[in-house]
Amino acid sequence: MTVQPANRGIIEPMQRSPEGAVVEATGLGMSYPVNGRRLQALAEVDFEVGAGEFVTIIGPSGCGKSTLLRLAGGLLKPDRGSITVDGDSPKAGRRSKKFGLVPQSPALLPWLTVRENLTLLPKVNRSQGRGPVGDGEIQALLEAIGLAPFADTLPSALSGGMQQRVSLARAFALRPPVLLMDEPFAALDEITRSQMRFLLLDVWRDTGATVVFVTHSIEEAVLLSDRVLVLTARPGRLSAELTIKLDRPRLRGIEDGDEFHRHTSELRAALNSAAGVSFSPEDR
Ligand code: ADP
Repeated sequence: MTVQPANRGIIEPMQRSPEGAVVEATGLGMSYPVNGRRLQALAEVDFEVGAGEFVTIIGPSGCGKSTLLRLAGGLLKPDRGSITVDGDSPKAGRRSKKFGLVPQSPALLPWLTVRENLTLLPKVNRSQGRGPVGDGEIQALLEAIGLAPFADTLPSALSGGMQQRVSLARAFALRPPVLLMDEPFAALDEITRSQMRFLLLDVWRDTGATVVFVTHSIEEAVLLSDRVLVLTARPGRLSAELTIKLDRPRLRGIEDGDEFHRHTSELRAALNSAAGVSFSPEDR
């Protein structure tokens, strides 16, 4: 995939990963111990995510999306198959700060101000030849997330949605080659969610990061992605893969177009089929 040239640099590009598969899962399986038995969360999952690609994983609730992301992030170890990030184990990738993980709820340091939360971790995590994030970039990020007036405020004074925006900006400030995002916009109101989606697209375009994104929103998946992988109900298996052929850059208003609706309909059908839902005349 060719990354589009930046036309609005919020943040400097990070080091590009080499071309080829950046995230690669082979025969991936994972189960959890529950009441003395093993609950199978994922089974035989194979996929690849190329350098600079934006790939979304979607599926019914409880199908193993978060498990998949936690495996990619090295927070869990698979009990079958393997997953690699840039050819390394996720644990090694974690050590060398190859990826940033954006969780569903904000994880900010409560004793630091918003600005300090954005600057401190990127300073500590300087690795792979990446320099410190400049004041100008931090200011641009603060403005992009609409929190410049709150730069010197502690997280406790912010709403949950505002904290999540800081959490996102911090992931961007880290400039990781790979961003793993677990429903990062789920807790935001509709207007903020839409703004953050377009901000993510801007930052992704500027940095050329590889993104693995989890959502249960069909519209979000279509708006953001190059490809969408659909998981079945638990245990999660890959049941469909859709290429989103909408032109980039994707601008506000794109959601109203016929092409967008065609994609959402196709994805909805794939998701219904993955969840075992069928709509026949007898269903009505
Ligand atoms: P999703 O993100 O698609 O909603 P998850 O990956 O969170 O799904 O969970 C997949 C399945 O694994 C669910 O049935 C969930 O209850 C179970 N699960 C997730 N984490 C654990 C855990 N730590 N212990 C036991 N079961 C878990």
